[in-house]
Amino acid sequence: KLASREFHPDDTVIEIKGVKIGGDELVVMGGPCAVESPEQIDEIARLVKASGAQVLRGGAFKPRTGPYSFQGIGVEGLVMMAEAGKKHGLLTITEVMTPEYVDVCAEYADILQVGTRNMQNFDLLRKLGTCGKPVLLKRGFSATYDEFLNAAEYILAGGNPNVMLCERGIRTFETYTRNTLDLAAIPVLKQLSHLPVISDPSHGTGRRELVVPMTKASVAAGADGLIIEMHTDPDNSMTGDGVQSLFPDQFANLLQDLEKLAPLC
Ligand code: PEP
Ligand code: MN
Repeated sequence: KLASREFHPDDTVIEIKGVKIGGDELVVMGGPCAVESPEQIDEIARLVKASGAQVLRGGAFKPRTGPYSFQGIGVEGLVMMAEAGKKHGLLTITEVMTPEYVDVCAEYADILQVGTRNMQNFDLLRKLGTCGKPVLLKRGFSATYDEFLNAAEYILAGGNPNVMLCERGIRTFETYTRNTLDLAAIPVLKQLSHLPVISDPSHGTGRRELVVPMTKASVAAGADGLIIEMHTDPDNSMTGDGVQSLFPDQFANLLQDLEKLAPLC
């Protein structure tokens, strides 16, 4: 299999505009759950950059559990985020939910994200095989490692070698946390695969106060990078993910701490 260590013994390093993901340095992706307005994403981009992170995250298309919840602002959000990324010198990552939107998302963002709910959307994965942009594939919240690696295989087999694996928490019997961040997934995936492994302690816990310790634990477990939600006004964010979003000063302090654990890109 293309994703396996046997096929490709050396770590895959994905280089995007000078940022190397999967090498010796940590990559940090930060930003809101959803792009809400030009002012919001511009201000958050400024803070993400000032903290030393390299990638701006933000969803324009949101995969909400219920159909009546805010669904994201769509293509306009892609434009706003691309502008903010360019202005502040950040790469950008955004979620794409359907094959039809792959081309427009690839036009505006540097990295395309596949959400947990779409990990086995095989038409989407096939389309991402030919999109020309790196893909961050999130683990399905009930997917085994084998199913996860097979999902990555669809993208690789389609001709795209630039895939990152993201552990974002799985469903367990525990209800205190939103998901259970499977820390063991990090070293297991590094053993089974050569692809970079990214941890998402925000969705992996669903609780702001757990994001800092689980970020540090992810780095200790061997993660190549982090994707972390940060918001300037989390209590009024347009998705429910404000409760797991760091405040800007927490995000900045966390990056300072991370530099002591591993060099940032
Ligand atoms: C997100 O990154 O905002 C998101 C919806 O993530 P997940 O697919 O892991 O729930
Ligand atoms: Mn979110």
